[in-house]
Amino acid sequence: MGIAVGIDLGTTYSAVGMIDPVTGRARIIPTRDGAAVTPSVVAVMPDGTVLFGEDAKEQQELGYTGTAAFFKRSMGDEDFALPLCGRDYTAVDLSAMLLRGLVEQAEEVSGEHIDAAYVTVPAYFRNREREATLAAARQAGLNVLGLLNEPTAAAFAYGLNGNGRHQTALVYDLGGGTFDVTLARIDEDEIRILGSDGDHQLGGKDWGNAVEMWIAENFKEEFGVDPTEDPETLAQIGVLAEQAKKRLSKSAYADITVSCQGHRGKYRLSREEFDQITAYMLQETADVVDRLFASIDPPMSWKDVDGTILVGGSTRMCQVPEYVERVSGKKPLGGVNVDEAVALGAAIRANQDASGATR
Ligand code: ADP
Ligand code: MG
Repeated sequence: MGIAVGIDLGTTYSAVGMIDPVTGRARIIPTRDGAAVTPSVVAVMPDGTVLFGEDAKEQQELGYTGTAAFFKRSMGDEDFALPLCGRDYTAVDLSAMLLRGLVEQAEEVSGEHIDAAYVTVPAYFRNREREATLAAARQAGLNVLGLLNEPTAAAFAYGLNGNGRHQTALVYDLGGGTFDVTLARIDEDEIRILGSDGDHQLGGKDWGNAVEMWIAENFKEEFGVDPTEDPETLAQIGVLAEQAKKRLSKSAYADITVSCQGHRGKYRLSREEFDQITAYMLQETADVVDRLFASIDPPMSWKDVDGTILVGGSTRMCQVPEYVERVSGKKPLGGVNVDEAVALGAAIRANQDASGATR
């Protein structure tokens, strides 16, 4: 007999969770490289081989055109067809290829046979997008126990249900390309979504772009050369900006060196300046949160929130927990990795029986 897993099928990164047979706790099944998350990228090579995850992302960074990313955004779109190596792929096809890769990798790494899964979807997904997700899972040969809303999965991972307390949680999810916020009412045997809102064109990618522009401006000022005009340097700046952004989640500054047309520019970006050049985007997320509070009947405010759950890799940026503490007066809930919470929650759900008890 095999195991039931939880799959966070993300726009930029995906993850698979299982219940550890020894500890009984949810844990991530790492990738073959030992990472917690897998890039949601697939590639079709000229000989027909399909790559996924880091291998496919590497091809994308090398400029290979047979790669696909961000296809979750096109789930449910009947008109979407992406030609890769001479064949058209729908978003369902691409998601199925990714799911197949994720499951094979998880089986190999965990040494378990995967029987069934809960797959997570954004709370705002309508019937069409949900049907497309189910179709992708079927195409991947996966037995889907059900779909679970991402914020609900995150609440499961924090164990907010089943402790006898009634709580209202705000789930703030800033991923790679999307922002979602959800208010959830958590009772003993039920997690109810009171409302959700978001901006699906705003994510960590945009914070990265702000750093790219900062680097390019500095370089232009110093040498009178626009480094973004050269496609190779532009790709290089993209990688450097992403690294600097992540470094600033841990350090007070990040050093960046860029070479272009025989010039070499060395720059130091402080966290303070990073926060300044991206402040308008953090404010956009704050505006969406306020809009959500106002849309609830009767309207709610931070005073009604018992705890904030941070989800998504981009909430590792210090400005996010700082904002939450500033406006709510409380630190966000801790103890679960922000990029693992959704998959862990789905794993917990996949191992509950119908009455809600964990198997
Ligand atoms: P998804 O959009 O698929 O839900 P994730 O929640 O995994 O994806 O978020 C991915 C985003 O998180 C990317 O933009 C990535 O750059 C960003 N990210 C990951 N780790 C960090 C970090 N340590 N600091 C800042 N941003 C990070
Ligand atoms: Mg996500």
